[in-house]
Order: sequence, then C-alpha cells, then structure tokens
Amino acid sequence: MYNIKSIRIQTTTACNLKCHHCFTEAGKAKQKEITLNDFQPVLEDLKKMKTKTAILTGGEPLLRDKFIYELASSLTDFEIINILYSNMTIFNKKIAQKLQKNGVYIIHTSIDAATANEHDCFRGKKGAFDKTIKSIKLAKKLGFQIWVRTTLTNQNIKQVPKIFDLLLKLKVDSFRVRPVITTGSATENLVISKKQLKEVNLFLLKKKQALENKIEIKFLPFCFEFAVKSSWQKKTMPCFETQGYISSVGDIKPCAYYPVVLGNICNNSLFKAWNSKKANDFRKKTQCKECISCKFYSICYGGCRAAAFGRTGIFSAQDPLCLATP
Ligand code: SF4
Ligand code: SF4
Repeated sequence: MYNIKSIRIQTTTACNLKCHHCFTEAGKAKQKEITLNDFQPVLEDLKKMKTKTAILTGGEPLLRDKFIYELASSLTDFEIINILYSNMTIFNKKIAQKLQKNGVYIIHTSIDAATANEHDCFRGKKGAFDKTIKSIKLAKKLGFQIWVRTTLTNQNIKQVPKIFDLLLKLKVDSFRVRPVITTGSATENLVISKKQLKEVNLFLLKKKQALENKIEIKFLPFCFEFAVKSSWQKKTMPCFETQGYISSVGDIKPCAYYPVVLGNICNNSLFKAWNSKKANDFRKKTQCKECISCKFYSICYGGCRAAAFGRTGIFSAQDPLCLATP
C-alpha cells in the first residue's frame, strides 16, 4: 500500500508569465477547474494517508484568488503544511496577510538567472525579475520562509554561482536546483549535459560543506555527489510512491511531469486511485532494468523517471543524466 506524504496540487493553469521551460504550458485557465467542493473527499484521503505537505502550484496560484486561500485554510485544518509555489510577481502586503491568515508560511519561487535581462527573457516577461526580487525581500521581512528553485538548462547553467551569491544576499532559506525535464514547453535544446550536471553537483557540494548553517541546498531529484560522498541528500523513495499530483481539472497523476492519468478526484478516491492496479502496473512499467541492478539504486532509485520518459518516450528508459554510467 502506498501513502502520499507530499501532494502537489495545481490550482490553475492561468499564468501571467510565459516561461520557456514551463512543464504545463500554462497561460489560460482550463474551463472547468477543481473547486473546494470537489476537494472534500481528497482531504479525507489525505488524512487517512497522513499526508504532511501540500504544494500549491499553477500556473500562478495567486491568480486563483478565492480558491487558493480556501484550499490553504482547509489543508491547515487537516494539519497539512502548505507550500505556495508562486512566481511572486503579483505578491504584496495584502496578499501576504491573507496567505498567513490561511496557514501559508513557506513560499517557493523561481529564479533562473542572476540578471534581470536573462531571467525576464526566460520567463517571457519584462520586469519579472525585479518584481520577484522585491517580493522576496518583502516576504522575508514579513516572516515567510523563502525557497528558490533554479531549473538548470544549457542557457543558465553557467550562472549558478552568481544566482547562489544573489540568494545568499537575499537570505533565502533554501536553494533548490533541478535539471529541466522535457515536458510541456521545455524542449530538447534546453537540456544540460552530464558534464555540466557533474560540475554543478560539485559546486553545490562545496557550498553545502562551507555554508551549511546559512542556506539549505537541495538538488532534485537528488545530487549524485552529495549522495555518494556523504549521507546529506539521497532520494528518499522511488518515484510515484510518496509524492502525488492533482491537476487543475482534478486529474490524479503519478507526478507533475508524467503524462499519465490514474483517475480524477471528481469520480475516484485519491487513495484508491493511488493504490489501483493501473497505478501499480504503471510503477512496474517505469522501472529501469539497469537501475534495479545498479549499486547506487538505494540512493538514487533510478533518477528522474519523467526525465527519462521525456527524453526517450520509453517508460523504462534509463535517466539520460545518470552519472554512474558513461
Ligand atoms: S543506473 Fe544511474 S540512474 Fe539508475 S540507479 Fe544507478 S545511478 Fe541511478
Ligand atoms: S519522475 Fe522525476 S519529477 Fe517525477 S517524482 Fe520522480 S524524480 Fe520527481
């Protein structure tokens, strides 16, 4: 039996930016988005599974004004920690107060370059960088925890040290890095090489050793160098076991990046769909033969299964960024 410990909920596909690497090709809201009413049975299932965290994503969740606060409040009532995933370009003091009132104290945002021009070009909107930086400063002042994600592409990979310095200055709480996954708008030409991945892994390992108390550093799905050289960060579970995803129209998916639907919350119980034959068959289908017999399997669990599928179209393919093989 599998229990979802962390659920990612896409609150809307509406977005005010147009990022090159968006996993969901966000823009306009879908016609029939999930409502709080649709969500009631899900809350009971999350309680049954002892879910600890909910990541409220989009599109841009702050564009779904009333729903986002109501949902956060309900999740808080079920003792689930809310993490808001926002581009922070429409954040202000009034929004901050409403978020905190409804139990949101952690905001996860994205910075993909150390300069405004490059970040804005990537995010498809002039002024996005300045607004996000201003919002981070305001949110820190108001007591939020700020986590920043950088999606690594071959266009920004050289900027990681500069982005890191910027985040230190902003005193953000966590820096989370992950290679781009080729789903949604993200295309093959953005993908990084193994050599580039290794260099970033080593850079972050050094920073982590030197600055452990100042900033949390996480490499997603995991950092090969961290895992092999220390016990700091391993992947905790194979994919599709403890992290679930619900789309803005209620589709239950094994992960945000995987184009497979296991059911819909309007017709199916989340718990039952997560433990259905369809879900278990999918888990088996996505197991990689080479990974199962690899000596690093217990720290890596096959890398990112969605990245492997996105690059090859084969469910059981090996993660193309596996650093254990040439
Ligand atoms: S072969 Fe590579 S991706 Fe697979 S488990 Fe081993 S290290 Fe991980
Ligand atoms: S497939 Fe990749 S993105 Fe999805 S849960 Fe696994 S590591 Fe995470």
